[in-house]
Amino acid sequence: MSSNLKYPILEINLDKVYQNAKHMIDLCDSKGINIASVVKGFNGLPQVVEQFVKAGSKYIAHSRMDQIVKLKEYGISVPVMLIRIPMLSEIEELVNYVDISLNSELETLNRIEKECILQNKSHKIVLMFDLGDIREGIMDEKEFIELAMYVEKNLKKVHLYGIGTNLGCYGSIRPTEENLGKLCNIAEKIEKNINRKLDMVSGGATTSIPLIMDGKMPEKINNLRIGEGMILARDLKDYWGYDMRKMNQDTFVLKAEIVEIKEKPSYPIGEMFIDAFGNKPEIQDRGIRKRALLAVGKQDFAYHDTLIPQMKGVEVVGSSSDHLIVDVQDCDQELKLGDIIDFHIYYPHMLYLSGSTGITKKYI
Ligand SMILES: *Cc1c(COP(=O)(O)O)cnc(C)c1O
Repeated sequence: MSSNLKYPILEINLDKVYQNAKHMIDLCDSKGINIASVVKGFNGLPQVVEQFVKAGSKYIAHSRMDQIVKLKEYGISVPVMLIRIPMLSEIEELVNYVDISLNSELETLNRIEKECILQNKSHKIVLMFDLGDIREGIMDEKEFIELAMYVEKNLKKVHLYGIGTNLGCYGSIRPTEENLGKLCNIAEKIEKNINRKLDMVSGGATTSIPLIMDGKMPEKINNLRIGEGMILARDLKDYWGYDMRKMNQDTFVLKAEIVEIKEKPSYPIGEMFIDAFGNKPEIQDRGIRKRALLAVGKQDFAYHDTLIPQMKGVEVVGSSSDHLIVDVQDCDQELKLGDIIDFHIYYPHMLYLSGSTGITKKYI
């Protein structure tokens, strides 16, 4: 068959991506919430983004301008959001390629206005309020409303499209009825001042989904920016304890090839110092074990700890830049050189694997 496909491979099941996106979009839709599908977790691979659009994403969202440009050139048809606060040095591209951006700085907004005049274009912005996760956004309510009013009254080409918040990314703060309720309350105050409804009240990311599942999402929230919860949906199940059986967790699968298979002591021999990354490894002595060495490494997936081997009896032991070591002593199958082992992955693995130039992306 595809003997020319080079390992390691990141196999991406587009049907399963579509099913996940459709399920999440329908769930949110039933609560009057539209979705900006966040594609930064897999480096905005256009074939995957297409599935999100097909499934009905109202917006596509990314943090990286260079990949937004690629998506626009690929022909992604729905409005694109930049969800990292724009750099002053990328305002020209912002106005040229991006439909909506998240913002928190007056100076940046003024620069966007200037650039819009130059390019004879308009640009929509969502002002970010910081509810306590202390990453992006304005923390003071009065200052926030004043900035919203400034945009509404003084900027002609920059349009106040909505307000939003981000939670759970840095400070690990959990979205609740209370903190998101506060955002809704502020939205109402702004609407009263500007005499119109805001188009978007954006209540966070994947970590806000539990509020929907529990029926506790404040009504005024009409948008979420969802990445992980649509792509792998692993965090909600494993870290939050939600039933995610309707979601495919195997949309992205890592396939790596065995380059050495031998019986070796499980404990290193000699004076132990530090590994290639400056860490002191903690290694358990389990006597002589059969181990396989796979041709894929930290450069591709960053952390080995949470990789999930799909073959019974295979156990991840460790990794270095270009190698993954697995214990196969208890494996029922008779493994040999050149065999392939599959792994299911978590969000951080997907982030690195999808961006690694040494990984073949295979779409099925
Ligand atoms: C990354 C990000 C998201 C999406 O996060 P997920 O946990 O993948 O859903 C949403 N909003 C902003 C501002 C982000 O940076």
